[in-house]
Amino acid sequence: MVRVGAGFDTHRLVANRPLILGGVRIDYPRGLAGHSDADVVLHAVTDALLAAAGLGDIGDYFPDTDPAHRDADSSRFVAEAVRLLAERGWRVGNIAVTIFAEEPKLGPIKTAIRSNLARLLGLSEDAVNVQAKTGEGVGVIGRGEAIGCAATALIERVNGI
Ligand code: MG
Repeated sequence: MVRVGAGFDTHRLVANRPLILGGVRIDYPRGLAGHSDADVVLHAVTDALLAAAGLGDIGDYFPDTDPAHRDADSSRFVAEAVRLLAERGWRVGNIAVTIFAEEPKLGPIKTAIRSNLARLLGLSEDAVNVQAKTGEGVGVIGRGEAIGCAATALIERVNGI
C-alpha cells in the first residue's frame, strides 16, 4: 500500500540571516526569516510526509510559538516526521521538491540539496528529486522577496506491519 502527500511553504528573504535550503547553507547576502532556521525546503518536506500519513501539519508538532524551536535546525522536524511515520508502519518511498527562487541561482546547488535530503530521509539519491524554478520576475518570488518550496512524498507500508 502506498500513499502520497503534498507540502508547500514560503518564507521572506531578509538581511542578516543565513540562507539554508534543504539543510545546505548557501553563500548569499540574505536569508529566510522565521522562528526556526526557516528552511523552506525542509518545512515543505516535513508537511508532505505528515500529509501522506494523515498526520496534520508541521505547526501541530512544532508550533512557532515554542521557544524550543527558535533558530532550530529544521532537520529535526524531518527526522521527527520520519519517526512518526515509522511508528505507524510507514517508510518513505520517494520525494520530489520544487524550489521557487529568483535568486540565488540554484542550478549548482541542487545536487548538494538532493544528497542532503537523501541522507536525512535514508533514501538513495535516485529516490529524491530537486527542481529549481525562478519566479520569472513576477510576484513576491520573482521580485526576490521570498523563496517558496513545494514537496511531494510517497510513503509505503513496511512489510509485516
Ligand atoms: Mg516554514
